[in-house]
Amino acid sequence: MDLYEHQGKELFERFGIPVSDGRVAESPEEARAAAEALGGPVVVKAQVLTGGRGKAGGVKFAADPREAEGHAQDILGLDIRGHVVRRLWIERASDIAKEYYVSVTFDRGEKRPLFMLTTHGGVDIEEVAASTPEALARLHIDPLVGFEPYQARWLCFEAGINDPGEQKQVIAIVERLYRAFVESDAMLCEINPLIVTPEGEVRALDSKFTVDDNALFRHPDVAEMRDSAAGDPQETLAREKGVTYVKLDGEVGILGNGAGLVMSTLDVIAQVGGRPANFCDLGGGGDAEGVVDALEVITSDGQVRSILFNVFGGITRCDEVARGILVALERMGIELPIVVRLDGTNADEGRGLLEEAAPENLRVEATMLSAAERAVELAA
Ligand code: GDP
Ligand code: MN
Repeated sequence: MDLYEHQGKELFERFGIPVSDGRVAESPEEARAAAEALGGPVVVKAQVLTGGRGKAGGVKFAADPREAEGHAQDILGLDIRGHVVRRLWIERASDIAKEYYVSVTFDRGEKRPLFMLTTHGGVDIEEVAASTPEALARLHIDPLVGFEPYQARWLCFEAGINDPGEQKQVIAIVERLYRAFVESDAMLCEINPLIVTPEGEVRALDSKFTVDDNALFRHPDVAEMRDSAAGDPQETLAREKGVTYVKLDGEVGILGNGAGLVMSTLDVIAQVGGRPANFCDLGGGGDAEGVVDALEVITSDGQVRSILFNVFGGITRCDEVARGILVALERMGIELPIVVRLDGTNADEGRGLLEEAAPENLRVEATMLSAAERAVELAA
């Protein structure tokens, strides 16, 4: 789960990482009031779950509340790479002497968290890594040993931060960022830019904070930060219904039992020249309730042109799944073409049931490949 900048900063603050004072606003009037409350010049910042807002016109300086209101008017409703701005963060403006970068994320190859620190902040880190890799200090943390203070010092020296006052603050921030990362079950904590003010104060001016979805049960306060309106509508519906679903960009809706089988189904659809519309795992069950929920999510996607059921009966029996499909279709009345492939335990009974009682638009295929071909054909 990605957090908005202002939410990430709220977490930073809890862990003692210095941030600027600010307020959320959802209308030009609220932006004006926020600027008045903060006093002095402010920055009006689009809150969207994507980076590069500055370049897209989503970050604007305002000298007074009236100007803040005007910028808010311009930025609200702006489309930043497919994300429509509905919320703003009005922050007390900072004077910037230098822009640094610091992050901690997972290096899956190394199976350890990785810190990156550089004095070349304010630009995309990929750019720094490509053009001046020597300016990027990288350090892995052994999760069993944990973070050691000398590691923050090493990062500072390696990045070339030589000012003792800055060092002291950056070291504290690195240490707190690691705590924020571990204690929030984060996947990424990034500060870009980490600024140094003309007075030598170091502060987080931006925040990118991603928390592991699977750990949200441990962080109800973070889970509550989710903004359903900003998410994909199909994925939001799926979450509400408890359906394991990932929205993709194609036309063939996919339903299978078991994550591995569904993944293979996506591959086979691609292999025969189609594009899957989603990943959807029915899990162990195949009862009508589960099928109805999954089909409701899949068919709520207007891009879907055909639906492929790929079921392997292991513990789940194919005849039960077939009954589930029949009851679900009777209840829902779907008009899209549906292709079903059943194999494994009681497959013959399952196929028999479908051939007997299924509606016109459902056809049974014997193999995964032929089912995929048929589903792609019908989606065209
Ligand atoms: P991003 O473009 O989505 O990464 O948004 P940021 O929050 O990083 O803002 C983009 C850039 O705007 C920063 O790198 C800064 O250079 C600039 N900026 C943001 N806030 C302030 C501020 O308070 N004062 C000044 N002078 N510049 C700011
Ligand atoms: Mn940034």
